[in-house]
Amino acid sequence: MSTASLISHGKLARMVEISRVLNSKSDIDDLLTYIIREAAALTESEAASILLLDRKTRQLRFKAASQMQPEMIDMPVPLSNSIAGAIITNNRPLIIDDVGKDPRWNPDVSQAIEFRTRSILGVPMHDMDRPVGVLEALNKQEGNFTYEDVETLAILADLAGVAVERARLIEELRQANTELNELDQTKSSFIALASHELRTPLSVILGYVSFLRDEATLETAEQLDYVMTAAIRLRSLIQDMLNFQYTAAGENKLNLKQVDCVEMLQEIVDSRDETAIAKQQSITINLPAAKIPVFVDMGMIEVVINNLLGNAIKFTPQGGHIEIALSTKADEVWFTVSDDGIGIPSDKLERIFTRFYQVEDHMRRHYEGMGLGLAIAKELVELHHGRIWVENKQPKGSKFFVALPLAPPT
Ligand code: ADP
Repeated sequence: MSTASLISHGKLARMVEISRVLNSKSDIDDLLTYIIREAAALTESEAASILLLDRKTRQLRFKAASQMQPEMIDMPVPLSNSIAGAIITNNRPLIIDDVGKDPRWNPDVSQAIEFRTRSILGVPMHDMDRPVGVLEALNKQEGNFTYEDVETLAILADLAGVAVERARLIEELRQANTELNELDQTKSSFIALASHELRTPLSVILGYVSFLRDEATLETAEQLDYVMTAAIRLRSLIQDMLNFQYTAAGENKLNLKQVDCVEMLQEIVDSRDETAIAKQQSITINLPAAKIPVFVDMGMIEVVINNLLGNAIKFTPQGGHIEIALSTKADEVWFTVSDDGIGIPSDKLERIFTRFYQVEDHMRRHYEGMGLGLAIAKELVELHHGRIWVENKQPKGSKFFVALPLAPPT
């Protein structure tokens, strides 16, 4: 007779249902309570308990029992000289019909929970092939534990082992995620604080330099120009930091207004020309003749376009060409900013939208910046239910796309 046939059809059907429930639960306490209830019911026992292996201390610890008292939670049970220890060490089920006669029996637990244990059926729990704990059924209601009980509890223990390990992993992931969020929050607060603190002294520097520049002799004027250029660069870095704070989670309130994006784009480009002129770059702008009204937060979209345009100017060498275009596509408006600059490796086309990511190695950088511009742009575009992406341009350069819905938000 095969072992599987020891289990009745009724119990097998119940096991299928249990497996389904176990797969649907991810809360560990909830899972453990469910497992001990089913273990007692399937083996017609008075109670059940679960001990899980603590991987660090290599001890078993009580995690759940039918009459669990709070002080029992996490109570350690040594691997040597204990019934549960023998079960997990030998990796085999154990039936003890009269615990009083077994020297490994520790009556403290029974006393702690005011439950008199007479008999135990214990089986090891596995996750795949790895032992993870022990499942015990206590006090068979009538007669002694049978082989059917052993088989039934062993199957339940293995289903439970996988489910418990999965729940543990989910819990670890949750915790890791919370810690990461806290770290992220600390970083955001630091950036917010630092950018605010840097702005005031920088305004003083810029103010005085420009005053001194007006008064300077030809020779000192040239030196002051260097100071001025460096200070302006610094201001743009601080602006990135300020914009970053602008998008910090939960702080976004869209101030939506109907604007004509043709006019908006023209204004942005006009006010950006200076840097491009300094690099002798040409900027072509292709705008449709008719107005394109959209509902956007103008401040935010300006940040997006300025970041794209700023990058195009920055990553395109002296004398290069930049093209800005606007068009409608189905129910969207598309902004594009393309350049014939250094381009982006194809495996980095997605990554450059991640905060602080820069294609260039930090130690060998030629270009200034903090790697925040595109991450900010992405957040702001997504707040408008739009999309942003980049494609490589042939023979060289890159083309950034921003698609925004034409319809007013509902
Ligand atoms: P930053 O410009 O401050 O480094 P961004 O988030 O704006 O940060 O851009 C991230 C990275 O994407 C840049 O460091 C650069 O490696 C790449 N990148 C962005 N725009 C362009 C572009 N037009 N051409 C080439 N590389 C670009």
